[in-house]
Amino acid sequence: QVLATELKKVIKAVIDYPKPGIVFRDVTSLMQDGPAFKKVIDALAQAYADTDIDKVVGTESRGFIFGAPLAYALGLPFVPVRKPGKLPRERIAQSYQLEYGEDTLEIHRDAINSGDKVLLVDDLLATGGTIDATVKLVRQLGGIVDHAAFVIALPELGGVTRLEQAGLNILSLVEYS
Ligand code: 5GP
Repeated sequence: QVLATELKKVIKAVIDYPKPGIVFRDVTSLMQDGPAFKKVIDALAQAYADTDIDKVVGTESRGFIFGAPLAYALGLPFVPVRKPGKLPRERIAQSYQLEYGEDTLEIHRDAINSGDKVLLVDDLLATGGTIDATVKLVRQLGGIVDHAAFVIALPELGGVTRLEQAGLNILSLVEYS
């Protein structure tokens, strides 16, 4: 709670971005604050230190910014889930709905072994569409997804409930209503 209050001071709100009516939570202002950025990674690393997670999976692109240092802190592999056309080797794809239209994410087929226990990481959980597609990719390769971690969650947009219904334990450091 102390950390949440501190992080709320450094995460800037951008009104009407990317379009009118949206309050965008800008995590670049958090990344620009070295001690705050370190506290975020340390808090996440502490939360998962005594779990039996095998791999950290981060979703492009802000999931890389928090997922990679978390994997490093835990001494675990980092697996990127990327936008289409970026991964060079054999891969699988998963499409998901956006507010207007559709998007696709991809993962290397050999990045997850059957039975791997995976922690998913992204900067922010809103409707859960992005992470839900990531869950499907990992599960399709036989990975076990019980945990997802976010710097920010916006519970009113439904993602927390949606992921909990999909069997995930959700951790977020800051929540906005
Ligand atoms: P969802 O798929 O849960 O609806 O949206 C979450 C995804 O959209 C995340 O990958 C996140 O990076 C991005 N996103 C949506 N809203 C915001 C926001 O207010 N701030 C930031 N930093 N990312 C957002």
